[in-house]
Amino acid sequence: MQGIAKQDLNKVLETLSGGGAALLVPMEIDGVTRFARWEQGAKTALGAGNTLLPPKEALFPQNEKVFNYEMSNEEAKIVPSAAAAEETIILGIRPCDVRAIQALDNVFLTKDYVDELYKTRRRHTLLIALGCTQPAPTCFCSSVGGDPLQAEGADIMLWDLGETYGLEALSDKGKDLLKKIDKFMSKSRGKKPAAGKFSLEVDSRGIAEKLHNMFEDPIWDRWYQKCLGCGICTFICPTCHCFDMQEKHTGQWDGYRYRCWDSCMFQEYSLMAGGHNPRPTKKERLRNRFLHKLCFFQERYGMLLCTGCGRCVRECPVGMDITKFIKEVSEVSLNE
Ligand code: SF4
Ligand code: SF4
Repeated sequence: MQGIAKQDLNKVLETLSGGGAALLVPMEIDGVTRFARWEQGAKTALGAGNTLLPPKEALFPQNEKVFNYEMSNEEAKIVPSAAAAEETIILGIRPCDVRAIQALDNVFLTKDYVDELYKTRRRHTLLIALGCTQPAPTCFCSSVGGDPLQAEGADIMLWDLGETYGLEALSDKGKDLLKKIDKFMSKSRGKKPAAGKFSLEVDSRGIAEKLHNMFEDPIWDRWYQKCLGCGICTFICPTCHCFDMQEKHTGQWDGYRYRCWDSCMFQEYSLMAGGHNPRPTKKERLRNRFLHKLCFFQERYGMLLCTGCGRCVRECPVGMDITKFIKEVSEVSLNE
């Protein structure tokens, strides 16, 4: 396996960010681990496990202008926004978050719908994934179809081998990028590491089929009670992608429309203009979130909308744990 010495990491990052590419790496900023643009002297948090905030914002910003409009007496002129076509490298993304991007690709690029803003960013983004050798206590990627050491869909895989990082190109784009750092590469003595033991495991096989028949099950009456409806679980989730559309008038006849992340855990999310709300209580909203993640998305795209990153398990203020929910579903008998 090829590798780079850890002591050369800064030089490698400098080379990768040369030529104007935005190089996003995990960093700790004001106590929050997140992906941020690397600049000379910046300290990475590559070894700190999964970041609190996932890197989805690089492809799907929290706020984004969709079009400008200008009205005159005769007509309305619409000028769609274009995403900046900046070459972007996301280095240190974990395999669960690469899978999350595959889920976003399904939403924004398939089924006869192409989101041009997302498509532009995605086309210009290269993913260098870092394999996880020590799953955190809240990680369960292997229980929902993931692999902590391999990131299908990434362009390059990285593994921490102690003194070095092992490297392997997984795509042509990845091979081309490795040529740029060729001078730092040597034959690494280490082997691809073995996966560490997961302390959190759950059997999710058949969960979508089971939940398909549980819309009216009493399980929802038990599960929604302690939810605060704060939306934290959705905002930190790498796969959640719901957004709201808003308008900002900048003059009497002109302005712009923008989209911003929204949460299905909020009451207003499903409130209709006439005042009707098909999800009036937290019960319906929690049911929708779990069904979307564990049933509807599987039925539509062939994958769960949960990659086992563990963020919601870790950060929910009242300890809602999606793995416990999956386990409880598996214990429900539908024949009673
Ligand atoms: S983070 Fe927990 S309390 Fe907040 S909306 Fe999600 S499940 Fe409910
Ligand atoms: S539902 Fe929770 S564990 Fe699953 S991908 Fe989202 S934040 Fe991660």
